[in-house]
Amino acid sequence: MILGKQKERMKYRRKTSQLLLLLLFLWALYRQYHVSTKKLQKIYRCWSMNSPSKELKLSDWFSPSQSMNLTTTNWSAPVVWHGTFNEEVLEQYYAKHKITVGLTVFAVGRYIDHYLRKFILSADMFFMVGHKVIIYVLIDDFSRMPWIQLSPLRTIKVFEIKREKRWQDVSMMRMKTISEHVVDHIQREVDFLFCMDVDQVFVRKYGVETLGESVAQLHAYWYKADLIKVPYERSELSEAYIPTGMGDFYYHAAVFGGTPTQVLNIARECLKGIMNDKKNSIEAVWHDESHLNKYFFLHKPAKLLSPEYCWDFTRTDIINIRNIKLSWAKKDYKHLRVKL
Ligand code: UDP
Ligand code: MN
Repeated sequence: MILGKQKERMKYRRKTSQLLLLLLFLWALYRQYHVSTKKLQKIYRCWSMNSPSKELKLSDWFSPSQSMNLTTTNWSAPVVWHGTFNEEVLEQYYAKHKITVGLTVFAVGRYIDHYLRKFILSADMFFMVGHKVIIYVLIDDFSRMPWIQLSPLRTIKVFEIKREKRWQDVSMMRMKTISEHVVDHIQREVDFLFCMDVDQVFVRKYGVETLGESVAQLHAYWYKADLIKVPYERSELSEAYIPTGMGDFYYHAAVFGGTPTQVLNIARECLKGIMNDKKNSIEAVWHDESHLNKYFFLHKPAKLLSPEYCWDFTRTDIINIRNIKLSWAKKDYKHLRVKL
């Protein structure tokens, strides 16, 4: 009897010490291999300090021109013209830092058949060549989406939107749709995002030199004009109001961009202005463009694009316009815009 009990006690002790040993072993394993947030941060710091691919400085790729006066703003943002950037340095950098660039484009009513195919085909050929691109098409009739065979690295995502009754609202309400889509999915899918009008065509390489935190496009009609003359909204009753003599440049709403976070800020603020104006029964003179100009007056863009990045070929004053990358398509407002 006693012998049996002793045996059982021994067995129990052996089991307990085995369990303790196992626990000790597991604890040692945990200490050795557990990757805590702190440890991860330490590893990352070491890696990033040793990493040869440092952040790109403006002076690494951009050289302001001596012969042209508009290559840097008074808040030190670069104005990208053909010849001011070193494409090789940029491409080397982005070969190590892979990116995906988004491009939103709206086509509503007759703009679908008239402009959409050419815009997408030209983007496929010239927009961010060699980099991953997602084209977001916002269209009011799925069945009229053109079938387009894209090159490698390019994806199209098509979303149906409701058609606004007035063309002014088609244009302005893009800010609402853009902000909703950035929040819903775009922010997780791309590193940079451009928002463009559909009535234009890429005619040459439109590359990574255009990427930035927030990007504004100089308007082909107004980039040389006296600031007093540019068509900012001048009614104090509108949220887009800019007092005479104030402002920096007149920007074109056919192109704007930045990181998804910045594009979200732009779209949300412009929409806020547009909706407040609606509440007060006011419409800014150039609709979303007036609000975009107000936004960039208050929040200076990190990068400006020369008019070569959105040029109207019918213009004759082409001094300094040497390498057009995106060109206005022919306008035919009377027949194409949605009407009431
Ligand atoms: N838009 C559209 N259908 C319309 C009116 C406008 O799809 O009937 C979209 C389209 O993307 C267009 C943008 O809204 O490029 C801005 O309108 P528009 O190009 O006519 O303005 P503008 O270039 O004259 O400022
Ligand atoms: Mn347009």
